[in-house]
Amino acid sequence: MEVCGGQTHAILRWGLDQLLPPGLRLIHGPGCPVCVTPAERLDAALALAACPEVILCSYGDMLRVPGSAAGADLLGARAAGGDVRLLTSPLQAIALAQACPARQVVFLAVGFETTAPATALLLRQARALGLTNLTVLLAHVRVAPAMAALLQEPGNQVQGFLAAGHVGAVMGTAELGQLVRRHRVPVVVTGFEPADVMAGLLRLVQLLEAGTPALANAYGRVVRQQGNGAAQAIMKEVFAVVDQPWRGLGPIAAGGYELAAAYRDFDALLRFCLPSAAVSPPPEPLASPCISGLILQGRALPPDCPAFGSACTPERPLGAPMVSSEGACAAYHRYRPPPP
Ligand code: SF4
Repeated sequence: MEVCGGQTHAILRWGLDQLLPPGLRLIHGPGCPVCVTPAERLDAALALAACPEVILCSYGDMLRVPGSAAGADLLGARAAGGDVRLLTSPLQAIALAQACPARQVVFLAVGFETTAPATALLLRQARALGLTNLTVLLAHVRVAPAMAALLQEPGNQVQGFLAAGHVGAVMGTAELGQLVRRHRVPVVVTGFEPADVMAGLLRLVQLLEAGTPALANAYGRVVRQQGNGAAQAIMKEVFAVVDQPWRGLGPIAAGGYELAAAYRDFDALLRFCLPSAAVSPPPEPLASPCISGLILQGRALPPDCPAFGSACTPERPLGAPMVSSEGACAAYHRYRPPPP
């Protein structure tokens, strides 16, 4: 299983899966942060976007992801009069809060350990500046616990992982080493260029054939064993690890972050008295044919979905994997479109 959506896109774009011999099959993993953000967080963001005093901001892909009600997304909230804005960096929220002191700026913070340090930096700077009109709706998730959860699923077919190189660049390889020791499954840290993916796959096959589950780093030009110490330190200062539901996967032990006690006053859920994410997320809307949960678990491919390329397209997506630029459905639609 390649964990990261960026790797899935590289595999589809360059047809790498079609070069593999019989018996070697790539399964696409849940590594699209937009896709796994719990619907409850989207619902909270939609509720906040309806408040006249709130400026709700997030990354572009998040604006099109539906909440738990079919068709309800942040772009729709903006069309209905909400002040919803797109950011390319969390630090832009500071300028926004300074420019609009009479408003409450809420940043919907999503992503893996790759984007979490920037959110932590945002909060540290907001604290230093004494900003009282800025909060975050936190939805950062942790990848290694999700990989462990997939391995514990009944009927799991994952025999090895290509781990995400950019997460490894931040977090190092210690957590992945624990995963290997606990679950006896080989893991190879891998990059995103075609040659990186193939080098990672070759190393993974070598480990499988040797029959010795081990951790290997095939992305040594970027990933160091210890990771990025400065990024880890600021995350440790600002966040605390918690159990967290992942959309499509369900509750995952230690699967996400909440704000550390010293930063709780920046928690939008507390500031606006919203419920925190439930431990068990609701299922996809019954009226929707979307099988995104199965796709995120590697149990189905996008073309298996009856709506793929017909009722669901990038222009009119039914589920997050078609919305997100890292989503598996978007990758298939772009590089393996259904026949007309
Ligand atoms: S193709 Fe669309 S409806 Fe089907 S699983 Fe993907 S996002 Fe959901």
